[in-house]
Amino acid sequence: MGLSEAVKWKMENISKQLRKPTSRKQQIFVFRRDRWLWRWCKRPVIFAPAMIYLKQELADSGYGELAYWRPAFNRRGAPLLDELAAAVDHIKALTMGGTNDVENLTTACNKCNTRKNNCDPRKWENEHPFKPIRSKFGEPQVWDGFSSLFLYMAKRHASSFTATEKDWLKALQAK
Ligand SMILES: [Zn+2]
Repeated sequence: MGLSEAVKWKMENISKQLRKPTSRKQQIFVFRRDRWLWRWCKRPVIFAPAMIYLKQELADSGYGELAYWRPAFNRRGAPLLDELAAAVDHIKALTMGGTNDVENLTTACNKCNTRKNNCDPRKWENEHPFKPIRSKFGEPQVWDGFSSLFLYMAKRHASSFTATEKDWLKALQAK
Protein backbone atom coordinates (compact mmCIF):
# COMPACT_ATOMS: atom_id res chain seq x y z
CA MET A 1 0.00 0.00 0.00
CA GLY A 2 1.53 3.34 -1.07
CA LEU A 3 1.36 6.43 1.08
CA SER A 4 -1.54 8.03 -0.77
CA GLU A 5 -3.45 4.75 -0.62
CA ALA A 6 -2.83 4.52 3.13
CA VAL A 7 -4.11 8.07 3.58
CA LYS A 8 -7.15 7.29 1.47
CA TRP A 9 -7.84 4.13 3.47
CA LYS A 10 -7.57 6.07 6.72
CA MET A 11 -9.87 8.84 5.48
CA GLU A 12 -12.46 6.27 4.42
CA ASN A 13 -12.36 4.68 7.84
CA ILE A 14 -12.71 8.02 9.58
CA SER A 15 -15.67 8.95 7.41
CA LYS A 16 -17.25 5.55 8.11
CA GLN A 17 -17.03 6.29 11.82
CA LEU A 18 -18.43 9.77 11.31
CA ARG A 19 -21.32 8.35 9.32
CA LYS A 20 -22.54 6.42 12.34
CA PRO A 21 -26.32 6.52 11.98
CA THR A 22 -28.31 8.82 14.22
CA SER A 23 -30.62 7.06 16.68
CA ARG A 24 -34.32 6.65 15.83
CA LYS A 25 -35.20 8.81 18.80
CA GLN A 26 -32.91 11.54 17.49
CA GLN A 27 -34.42 11.24 14.01
CA ILE A 28 -37.97 11.58 15.34
CA PHE A 29 -36.88 14.60 17.37
CA VAL A 30 -35.53 16.25 14.20
CA PHE A 31 -38.60 15.38 12.08
CA ARG A 32 -40.94 16.81 14.70
CA ARG A 33 -38.88 19.91 15.32
CA ASP A 34 -38.95 20.59 11.54
CA ARG A 35 -42.68 19.74 11.39
CA TRP A 36 -41.92 17.03 8.78
CA LEU A 37 -40.96 19.65 6.21
CA TRP A 38 -37.81 19.93 4.18
CA ARG A 39 -36.54 23.40 3.44
CA TRP A 40 -34.45 22.97 0.36
CA CYS A 41 -37.10 21.59 -1.99
CA LYS A 42 -39.99 22.79 0.26
CA ARG A 43 -41.73 19.42 0.17
CA PRO A 44 -43.49 17.75 3.08
CA VAL A 45 -41.96 14.37 3.93
CA ILE A 46 -43.54 11.10 5.04
CA PHE A 47 -42.69 8.55 7.70
CA ALA A 48 -41.93 5.48 5.58
CA PRO A 49 -42.86 2.74 8.12
CA ALA A 50 -46.49 3.94 8.06
CA MET A 51 -46.67 2.75 4.44
CA ILE A 52 -45.81 -0.83 5.45
CA TYR A 53 -49.11 -1.15 7.29
CA LEU A 54 -51.16 0.80 4.81
CA LYS A 55 -49.96 -1.60 2.13
CA GLN A 56 -50.58 -4.60 4.39
CA GLU A 57 -54.12 -3.57 5.30
CA LEU A 58 -55.06 -2.90 1.69
CA ALA A 59 -53.59 -6.22 0.59
CA ASP A 60 -55.60 -7.97 3.33
CA SER A 61 -58.71 -6.20 2.04
CA GLY A 62 -58.16 -7.53 -1.48
CA TYR A 63 -56.55 -4.56 -3.22
CA GLY A 64 -53.57 -6.63 -4.33
CA GLU A 65 -49.93 -5.70 -4.52
CA LEU A 66 -49.52 -1.92 -4.21
CA ALA A 67 -46.36 0.13 -4.72
CA TYR A 68 -46.67 1.78 -1.31
CA TRP A 69 -43.62 0.33 0.32
CA ARG A 70 -40.47 -1.66 -0.41
CA PRO A 71 -37.39 -2.11 1.75
CA ALA A 72 -35.51 -0.09 -0.89
CA PHE A 73 -37.33 3.11 -1.75
CA ASN A 74 -37.07 3.02 -5.52
CA ARG A 75 -39.33 4.48 -8.19
CA ARG A 76 -40.54 1.13 -9.42
CA GLY A 77 -41.42 -0.40 -6.07
CA ALA A 78 -42.30 2.64 -3.95
CA PRO A 79 -42.49 5.87 -5.99
CA LEU A 80 -43.84 8.02 -3.16
CA LEU A 81 -41.09 6.95 -0.77
CA ASP A 82 -38.49 7.28 -3.52
CA GLU A 83 -39.39 10.98 -3.56
CA LEU A 84 -40.67 11.83 -0.11
CA ALA A 85 -39.50 9.37 2.55
CA ALA A 86 -38.28 11.35 5.55
CA ALA A 87 -34.51 11.30 5.96
CA VAL A 88 -32.16 13.04 8.37
CA ASP A 89 -29.50 15.13 6.73
CA HIS A 90 -26.42 16.99 7.98
CA ILE A 91 -26.64 20.73 7.28
CA LYS A 92 -22.88 20.99 7.35
CA ALA A 93 -21.46 17.76 5.93
CA LEU A 94 -19.40 15.60 8.28
CA THR A 95 -16.55 15.73 5.79
CA MET A 96 -16.59 19.53 6.13
CA GLY A 97 -16.43 19.47 9.91
CA GLY A 98 -20.15 19.16 10.66
CA THR A 99 -21.24 17.17 13.71
CA ASN A 100 -23.98 14.68 14.64
CA ASP A 101 -25.60 17.17 17.05
CA VAL A 102 -29.29 17.81 16.42
CA GLU A 103 -28.49 21.47 15.64
CA ASN A 104 -26.60 20.22 12.61
CA LEU A 105 -29.33 17.77 11.59
CA THR A 106 -32.30 18.59 9.43
CA THR A 107 -35.25 16.78 7.92
CA ALA A 108 -34.78 15.99 4.23
CA CYS A 109 -36.73 14.25 1.48
CA ASN A 110 -35.26 10.99 0.19
CA LYS A 111 -34.72 12.40 -3.30
CA CYS A 112 -32.73 15.45 -2.22
CA ASN A 113 -30.83 13.44 0.35
CA THR A 114 -29.73 10.92 -2.28
CA ARG A 115 -28.72 13.70 -4.66
CA LYS A 116 -26.89 15.54 -1.91
CA ASN A 117 -24.99 12.41 -0.87
CA ASN A 118 -23.81 11.96 -4.43
CA CYS A 119 -22.66 15.55 -4.67
CA ASP A 120 -19.56 17.38 -3.43
CA PRO A 121 -20.79 19.04 -0.19
CA ARG A 122 -19.12 22.34 -1.08
CA LYS A 123 -20.77 22.37 -4.50
CA TRP A 124 -24.16 21.47 -2.98
CA GLU A 125 -23.95 24.27 -0.40
CA ASN A 126 -23.14 26.82 -3.09
CA GLU A 127 -25.98 25.69 -5.30
CA HIS A 128 -28.55 25.23 -2.52
CA PRO A 129 -28.30 28.09 -0.03
CA PHE A 130 -30.26 27.39 3.17
CA LYS A 131 -33.17 29.83 3.03
CA PRO A 132 -36.39 30.23 5.00
CA ILE A 133 -39.52 29.10 3.15
CA ARG A 134 -41.95 31.67 1.84
CA SER A 135 -45.30 30.31 0.82
CA LYS A 136 -48.48 32.11 -0.12
CA PHE A 137 -50.74 30.24 2.30
CA GLY A 138 -48.21 29.80 5.07
CA GLU A 139 -46.56 26.61 6.16
CA PRO A 140 -48.57 23.62 7.41
CA GLN A 141 -48.61 23.71 11.20
CA VAL A 142 -49.91 20.20 11.87
CA TRP A 143 -48.38 18.04 9.13
CA ASP A 144 -47.09 14.89 10.82
CA GLY A 145 -45.66 12.93 7.89
CA PHE A 146 -48.22 10.12 8.48
CA SER A 147 -46.58 9.35 11.82
CA SER A 148 -50.02 9.36 13.48
CA LEU A 149 -51.17 6.89 10.83
CA PHE A 150 -48.32 4.62 11.90
CA LEU A 151 -49.34 4.94 15.58
CA TYR A 152 -52.98 4.30 14.70
CA MET A 153 -52.21 1.13 12.74
CA ALA A 154 -49.58 0.01 15.22
CA LYS A 155 -52.35 -0.99 17.60
CA ARG A 156 -53.65 -3.60 15.18
CA HIS A 157 -50.25 -4.90 14.05
CA ALA A 158 -48.40 -4.94 17.35
CA SER A 159 -48.05 -8.73 17.30
CA SER A 160 -46.21 -8.71 13.95
CA PHE A 161 -43.91 -5.80 14.76
CA THR A 162 -40.23 -6.25 14.00
CA ALA A 163 -37.53 -4.98 16.37
CA THR A 164 -37.07 -1.94 14.11
CA GLU A 165 -40.76 -1.10 14.20
CA LYS A 166 -40.87 -1.50 17.96
CA ASP A 167 -37.98 0.92 18.16
CA TRP A 168 -39.79 3.44 15.93
CA LEU A 169 -42.90 3.07 18.06
CA LYS A 170 -40.88 3.75 21.19
CA ALA A 171 -39.29 6.82 19.59
CA LEU A 172 -42.69 8.15 18.46
CA GLN A 173 -44.30 7.56 21.85
CA ALA A 174 -41.50 9.38 23.68
CA LYS A 175 -42.44 12.97 24.40
ZN1 LIG B 1 -36.30 17.33 -1.79
